[in-house]
Order: sequence, then structure tokens, then C-alpha cells
Amino acid sequence: MRASQYLIATLKETPADAEIISHQLMLRAGLIRKLASGLYTWLPTGLRVLRKVERIVREEMNFAGAQEVLMPAVQPAELWQESGRWDMYGGELLRFKDRHDREFCFGPTHEEVITNLASTEIKSYKQLPLNFYQIQTKFRDETRPRFGVMRAREFIMKDAYSFHVDDASLEQTYQIMFQAYTNIFTRLGLGFRLVEADTGSIGGNTSHEFHVLADSGEDAIAVCDKYEYAANVELAEARAPAPGTEKSKDLVEHDTPSIETIEEISQYLKVSADKTVKTLIVVGVDGLVALVIRGDHELNTVKAEKHSLIAAPLEFATEQLLKTFLSIKPGSIGPVGLNIPVIVDRSAAALKNFICGANQDDKHLSNVNWDRDTVIEEIVDLRKVIAGDICARAGDDSSDGAKLSIKRGIEVGHIFQLGVKYSTAMNARCLDQNGKAITMPMGCYGIGISRIVAAAIEQNHDDKGIIWPSAIAPFEVVIVTIGYKKSEAVRAKADALYQKINELGIDVLLDDRNERPGIMFADAELMGIPHRLVIGDRGLEKGVIEYKARDKADSEDIPLNKLEQSLATLITRS
Ligand code: ATP
Ligand code: MG
Repeated sequence: MRASQYLIATLKETPADAEIISHQLMLRAGLIRKLASGLYTWLPTGLRVLRKVERIVREEMNFAGAQEVLMPAVQPAELWQESGRWDMYGGELLRFKDRHDREFCFGPTHEEVITNLASTEIKSYKQLPLNFYQIQTKFRDETRPRFGVMRAREFIMKDAYSFHVDDASLEQTYQIMFQAYTNIFTRLGLGFRLVEADTGSIGGNTSHEFHVLADSGEDAIAVCDKYEYAANVELAEARAPAPGTEKSKDLVEHDTPSIETIEEISQYLKVSADKTVKTLIVVGVDGLVALVIRGDHELNTVKAEKHSLIAAPLEFATEQLLKTFLSIKPGSIGPVGLNIPVIVDRSAAALKNFICGANQDDKHLSNVNWDRDTVIEEIVDLRKVIAGDICARAGDDSSDGAKLSIKRGIEVGHIFQLGVKYSTAMNARCLDQNGKAITMPMGCYGIGISRIVAAAIEQNHDDKGIIWPSAIAPFEVVIVTIGYKKSEAVRAKADALYQKINELGIDVLLDDRNERPGIMFADAELMGIPHRLVIGDRGLEKGVIEYKARDKADSEDIPLNKLEQSLATLITRS
């Protein structure tokens, strides 16, 4: 590509509404432009990167035995009513009607369409397993579109769906996808981390996310390097503490007028918050339920919602409900003498002689002990992990290495074992080896193609701009010419070199613009092109061309007669 015929849409100023570095650099380097909230046009430079990401994903998916299909972006409401998601999906689903008043949505994901296809096309176990994928535009009316293409409303996803005769086959394909994703993110040149994930509203059992670690990431991940554990904080577990060994002391009641918070009670009784518990009353499937966690911990609502006694989405009891059913006010609730199910977090359950509300206005109890003073329904893991907790895999190791730290991540891929959620709802059945009709277990596997472009920039940039990993650079080489218009020698050499590099199948940008060198250098750096060659009369007189790698500080002169050989090693080396 010749720069004189190409849209180099670089900007000097940092756009005011771009909060994170990747969004700023995607605008400044001329990769994207905003059309409306969460809607972006991909300019030529951005599209080159996007296509390279797609190509790697496509190659690895094909290699893993998946087959490419292309489903409509617009989907009929009936399919979503069949799966039950038309009512469940909420505001993210963009719904509309056609001229015949029939309802449709713009697909945020394609489980319904593919399961419908499988139910008609797959008749026998002999066809299985099958894994279909597509690379396609999705629309999700996100509550907070932000960070450019990182959380857009319209974005490009690779989504794949597999169908199986049994769970063992699903597990096998899941492992193959696991490996394919590892290959993809490695080839993309991204530093990534595999994270155990919650299966959330999509349903199903096993699920892993692939995260690019970056400070701007929207997800919090609990990580322990020593025990190779990483889990989304929604799911992350800490080691359960050993039960306390203190002797039980006599129960004491305290007058605590206008004391309501954990902070206030710990100050008043001069104890640390980890010797207190807080009792949260939530709506259960059959009446109210009490959840008890240690005073210094926070409830993990995702964990709570999974409990069979607790209604999802989680809802806290209103003051009115507390008054009507328990005759208590919020500030002094505790587990002693409550006549509703009491579910206790493992850390709270390990306490001895702790402090809690007395279920009487303005009163608290100290020296409470579970076995003597309360009736527990169940002890489970209910809390959010915090930095410094011991990793659940650490056994009895309590060293610093066994502690969890909390890192930020950008979710770029997600694999699920869905099980039969959709195939049951949509009747996707086939005959097994014995001629019996079975419901096909499914897997689904997503990659955020457009988000990857932003994530790669978050990981690879400096104060001058983007530093692309070679595999996804819009151009691998830029030839900057000094005096292309004026010097016959420069023009001839640059044109010849440009042709040669093109012939080698390497993406090259020839900067033949009549610009000052400083501007050409700055554009090449901002755009992140990994290899830069400078051709000018001065170098040519000495028989050299200047070479500089985008990620190195210094340039070097390459003799003209060694150029081809040097380029080949430089470019394959990176
Ligand atoms: P998130 O938690 O970030 O909203 P998700 O769990 O809704 O993601 P999936 O339904 O698993 O995402 O979609 C598969 C992939 O699509 C995600 O891993 C992510 O990389 C990408 N993705 C999801 N939502 C968006 C979005 N609004 N903009 C860009 N990419 C997205
Ligand atoms: Mg989402």
C-alpha cells in the first residue's frame, strides 16, 4: 500500500471522551471512528488488524475440526420464545417488528438459531460430534457501552456451538477448544490467563474464560501463581479457615442504642470486624432466609443465588418485610433465635465467641457460639474473596505464595459446557447407538474478535503509540522515504524495495507522501508498525538503509547489498 493512496487518519490530539489508552490510540492511529454510542466504523488500518485476528481464529478453528457457517444476524422471536429467553434476556436484546408486524431481534448470540438447525439436520449419533462456528456481527444494547470497541453495542464475535451424543464427547470437544483457544491467543501475541468462570445466565456446568490482564479490565480475577489458580471473583474461592479452638464464654447482651453498622459495633465494643458477623435477610424460594458472613467480608451475590433455598436474582428483604415477618429492624439482626433458615458462610462458621445483633432493637450479643446458641441450616461458601486470602488449592500452605491477589482482566474468550439446556427446550434430539432418541448435550465457545484488537493495544503500547505484535500488525514494514518526490535515486530504490517486500508476501506501507520526515515517523510509530526502513539520499550515498524496530530504542544501518537477507531474519525473528 502506498501512503499517498491510503487513508492515514492519524490524530495529534487525544480525543476527550476516550477514557482508556486503547480507545484513545484506536482513534488517534486512525483505526476506528464513532458513529453513535457503541457503534464504530472500522477504517482501513483498523480493518486490516481485525481481518488478521479473524484469520488466525479461522485457521485454528478449522484445524480443531470446527466447520464455518454463517447464520442470519436477524432472528425470529419464535425461536427465543421456544428457548424461554425472549422474556429472560432483558434490555440487551434489540427487538423490532417487520412490515407484517412479526417480532424479531438482532442476535446478541446464536444458541437458538444453531440449536434449531441441529434439530433438523442431525438425525443420528453417526453424524456426531459436530462443531459449527461463525464470525459475525452481534448486537447487544449494553447498559454502558464504553471504551470504544471494548464494550460496544455492535461488535464482531466468533461463536461456535458443538453437539454430542453424550457428556464424554462434549468433554472431549471442550478440551479441543481449550487447546484451540490457547493456540489462538498465543499466535495473536497476547499475554493471557485462563480463568475459571461462572456459567451465569447462559446456564450449564463447566466454563472457562480467557482474559488479557490489563489495569483497565472490567473483570476482577483472583489469582494465585504458586498453585496456578485463577478465577473470576464471581466464582473464586478461598481456603475455608479451620474452626476456632477458643473455649466458649458466657453470652453477654449489650445495650447498643443507635449502633447499626459493623464499624460502629466494633468501635463500641473495641473488637476487630473479623470477630463480628453480619446477618443479611434475603428473599428465599419459600419465605425469608438469613445469610451470615463475617463482619469484614462481603456477600458474593452470584454464589448466594446458586443456593437452592435462595431466590434469583438476589433480593434483600425490605424493612417492611423484616417488620412483618421477623418483627425486627435492620441494624440489630443476628442468627440467634431466628425462626427462618440460617445459611452461614464458612469463615463466619469458624468463629468462636463472636458478636452479632440480638434481634431486638438497640441490642447486640457478644460471646455467641454457633453450636450452643444457634440453629444452622447449612454452612457454605458465600463470600467474596479478598486479596491476601489463602488460595483454595493451597492445602495447609499459608506462605505468601499461597495468597490470592486480585488482578484486572479483559475477557476475550469464553468456553462453556452448556449441557442440554437449549437442546431440551428446542427439542434437539437424535438417535444413539441403540436406536434410542437422546437429547444432544451442547458446548458453546465465544471469542470477542473486535475486543481483541483493543485488548492487544492495552498490552502493547508506549507514549508514542501502538506496538503491534507482528501477527496482527496492519503493516509489518513501513518504508519511510526522505524526498520521494525530489530524488530520483530515493524513488527508484524505494519503489524497488516496496515491490520486493510485497512479493515476499509481507504487508508493507510505502510512505511516499510529501510530508516532513518527523510527521512520517510519528505516524508510523502511532500506527505501531513493527519494522521501519528509512530511505534517503544520505544513506544511499553511504550504501545503507536505516532500520528500526518499533519496540527498540536504537536504529541500525543495513548495507544495501545485505538488505534482503537482513529483512528476512528481522521479520521472522519477531
Ligand atoms: P462480558 O462479561 O464482557 O459482558 P459476556 O459474558 O457477555 O462478556 P459472552 O456472551 O461470553 O460475553 O460473549 C463472548 C465474547 O464476546 C466475550 O468473551 C467478549 O470477548 C465478547 N463480547 C461480549 N460483549 C461484548 C461487547 N459488548 N463488546 C465487545 N465484545 C464483547
Ligand atoms: Mg455481557
